[in-house]
Amino acid sequence: MDYIDRALAAVKEKNRYEPEFLQTVTEVLGSLRRVVEQHPEYEKAKLLERITEPERVISFRVPWVDDKGEYQINRGYRVQFSSSIGPYKGGLRFHPSVDRSILKFLGFEQIFKNSLTGLPIGGAKGGADFDPKGKSDDEVMRFCQSFMNELYRHIGPDCDVPAGDIGVGSREVGYLYGQYKRLTRQYCGVLTGKGTTYGGSLIRTEATGYGLVYLTHEILSHRGKSLEGKRVVISGSGNVAIYAAKKAQELGAVVVTMSDSNGYVYDKDGIDVPAVQQIKEVHRGRIKEYVAGHPSAEYHEGCKGVWSVPCDIALPCATQNEIDLESAQSLLKNGCWMVSEGANMPSTLEAVAAFQKAGILFAPSKAANAGGVAISALEMSQNSLRLSWSAEEVDQRLKEIMAHIYESMSAAAAEYGDSPEDFVTGANAAGFLKVAEAMMAQGLV
Ligand code: NDP
Repeated sequence: MDYIDRALAAVKEKNRYEPEFLQTVTEVLGSLRRVVEQHPEYEKAKLLERITEPERVISFRVPWVDDKGEYQINRGYRVQFSSSIGPYKGGLRFHPSVDRSILKFLGFEQIFKNSLTGLPIGGAKGGADFDPKGKSDDEVMRFCQSFMNELYRHIGPDCDVPAGDIGVGSREVGYLYGQYKRLTRQYCGVLTGKGTTYGGSLIRTEATGYGLVYLTHEILSHRGKSLEGKRVVISGSGNVAIYAAKKAQELGAVVVTMSDSNGYVYDKDGIDVPAVQQIKEVHRGRIKEYVAGHPSAEYHEGCKGVWSVPCDIALPCATQNEIDLESAQSLLKNGCWMVSEGANMPSTLEAVAAFQKAGILFAPSKAANAGGVAISALEMSQNSLRLSWSAEEVDQRLKEIMAHIYESMSAAAAEYGDSPEDFVTGANAAGFLKVAEAMMAQGLV
């Protein structure tokens, strides 16, 4: 057993009831063999054992009252995983599936993603097992206020700066920020993804989806290809999916699907993205409503079927493990030759192995969806400066950051990967090395 295997075995032993966390640790550590071989000092410093243990996990009760006057109790969390290169940074997820394992997986991923952006931000994640779906605005507000009544003690503009994720959009960030301000009397950049009238950055809403497409474009253009005329399958119809679809269309792609947790729509003429925005962002409706008014579209129950639609490029933008081995095989059989991950860890380990074996282009989430957190970091900068940059300026910086991520990931893939297109190893190694160096410099903490 080498150091990686020993560290991995110890993580498995300690976290045996946390499958999502173990999945991401297995993927990341498994790709770092060549890096660790070149740095024997990491073993003495127990660096892998330390980096896989969160600095802090906070879990708390969130009591609130629903519209019928009934008491409701949820569980809230903040996983402050690593502050080696900057204040903790990572989104909040409100979804019934949220638990410690899911948030530790997301927090661990966030360390390396944030490092890859080249910006000084550490890794964290948080959220609650609360489902905003079907709740009134008042219920969501009461929940957010109760959640912040505990969270505010643990966060701050130079300490921990949460943002949105699944189930946490501008409405939720607004309520959370209002309560933070009320509790602390501080008007500061403690949350990102704020509305633009109270400190939010232009382009933050679009950033993850746009960034995903910018990285995809970067990978293609270095190979003499483009998105022009390519058939693109997208899953999800939330924040990431909508803006990925919009930008892909702007660059000439034909986006033929979008989905939610009930099913997917296939529109052979190309998805009408403003119609999806109207359904999801304005009415908070379901994707099946899309077919009314779009005779070229079909709705299919079940979200997995989206991976059976023939395409050139797949952009999974819904949730973790949405592409299993069977879905990966279906994509490959139907001609897919590139997958760029908008969601966090949307492909299982077996699915990634299938893509790699088939030799298709594969952009892993920690590189491909880093645009959101990058613009969040720029929102922090604007808040500190008490300035707002124009949409053009922020979009230009986003393009530059995604190009920088491509360069770092490619260089590390060439040095540590099985091939120059082994972007999984490239993204992990590039993200890891910077954090490891900072940890070594800061001593045993
Ligand atoms: P949203 O809540 O805006 O949208 C999520 C979308 O995914 C919805 O269409 C939702 O459908 C669907 N979905 C959620 N859970 C499931 C499930 N279990 N099965 C099938 N579909 C599901 O979230 P975001 O767009 O913000 O996030 C999507 C992904 O991108 C997540 O993995 C997130 O971690 C990642 N991400 C987001 C960033 C951001 O800036 N927002 C930044 C980086 C990564 P339904 O409405 O039916 O629940």
